[in-house]
Amino acid sequence: MSQFPYGVPVVLTPRVRRLTAPNSGLMTGPGTNSYLVGHQRIALVDPGPAISSHINALLDAVGDRLNWIFVTHTHKDHSPAAQAVAAATGAEVIGNIIPNDGFQDPSFVEARAVVDDECLRTDEFNLRAVLTPGHVANHVCYLIEEDRMLLTGDHVMGGSTVVIIPPAGDMGQYIRSLERMLDYDLEHLAPGHGGLIETPHTEVKRLIKHRLKRERKVSDALAVAGPCPISTLLPVVYDDVDTSLHAMAEKSLYAHLLKLVNEGQARVDGEVWGPIDRN
Ligand SMILES: [Zn+2]
Repeated sequence: MSQFPYGVPVVLTPRVRRLTAPNSGLMTGPGTNSYLVGHQRIALVDPGPAISSHINALLDAVGDRLNWIFVTHTHKDHSPAAQAVAAATGAEVIGNIIPNDGFQDPSFVEARAVVDDECLRTDEFNLRAVLTPGHVANHVCYLIEEDRMLLTGDHVMGGSTVVIIPPAGDMGQYIRSLERMLDYDLEHLAPGHGGLIETPHTEVKRLIKHRLKRERKVSDALAVAGPCPISTLLPVVYDDVDTSLHAMAEKSLYAHLLKLVNEGQARVDGEVWGPIDRN
């Protein structure tokens, strides 16, 4: 059986189950992971896309014990099922709402906002919110303290690179939010896509290094090319990435360039990006 069977919860720890939605794809891996925390009074983190078989599987798994629906963020593969699941169970919906840049779930309009470090305490678990803007401005990770398991949404994915789409996404914030994860004593990362990551700090350090290496490549390419449009930089900076992925890579390149401009290490005039003269 697949590691990500559809419709069947996979037991990860005595208090955590994972249900994967049938929306596999290039950007979603095996599908969006919904996490069920607890058995007596259940918290659902990321209900996922509003696909009826997935909604039914969630409702079967929670019975009449669902109290809370948390979302890590409101991209269309993470939050749309919240409405139907809340309507069927009466559970409280919790997540932050941002202006729709075309990538947000327009059905996510009513929710209690999440405050950084707030903690839901039940007899079975403590679930602590860790605000992690970057992939998108309203992103939140959730720490299940008893399992030292961080539900990472799209902040860290299993097996693929997170796309940062400005202005809702911000590369500088993303790297700071990665660094923040090193402050927590973690045993598992449970991503929104893909399987558990059992070496959290090693993986997070690798991701930070990878982003900073890419940023260096952007600076170097700018220094060589001089003032130029983003299309000139793309094939140079992403020469190690298959061209079929360049459309997505261009969004991350734009995010890197904005970070450099914000930090005074590059300049932009209309569509033309340029290095800062250092003499
Ligand atoms: Zn996302």
